[in-house]
Amino acid sequence: MDYFYSFYILVTEFNLFIIKNNPMSERRCKLCQSPYSGRRDKIFCSSGCKSDYHHQLRALSNKVASSTDKILHRNRSILFELLGDHENQRRIDRDALAKKNFRFEYMTGCYENEQGKRYYLVYDFAWIEFKTGEVLLLRRKKMEQ
Ligand SMILES: [Zn+2]
Repeated sequence: MDYFYSFYILVTEFNLFIIKNNPMSERRCKLCQSPYSGRRDKIFCSSGCKSDYHHQLRALSNKVASSTDKILHRNRSILFELLGDHENQRRIDRDALAKKNFRFEYMTGCYENEQGKRYYLVYDFAWIEFKTGEVLLLRRKKMEQ
């Protein structure tokens, strides 16, 4: 065995010793904190922990999102009620819309047309606010034609 090879083995063994005994390099499961080994990009000790983690994350996300979803759905219902099945647009006082508990700050999108008029979107409906205190309600499909 030549000197260089012996040195290489020594360095490799030393590195393995450092990795094994360094608490910083010990990998622990993101969910249960159990130590584990395996592929470098692995972050859970088992497929069960991975599944549980994503289930918990989704449940938490759904809980937080559901209150926002309720407001958005209520906004859409208000616009649908005001426009009915057939009307494609209607002007209404902003105050009248506010009295129906329409939440202007909740929308699913927003864009400006070429004239700089801002459209606020709630699913398949939209509204435009005017300085006069009026709001134009629009059915979105007709708007995009
Ligand atoms: Zn685990």
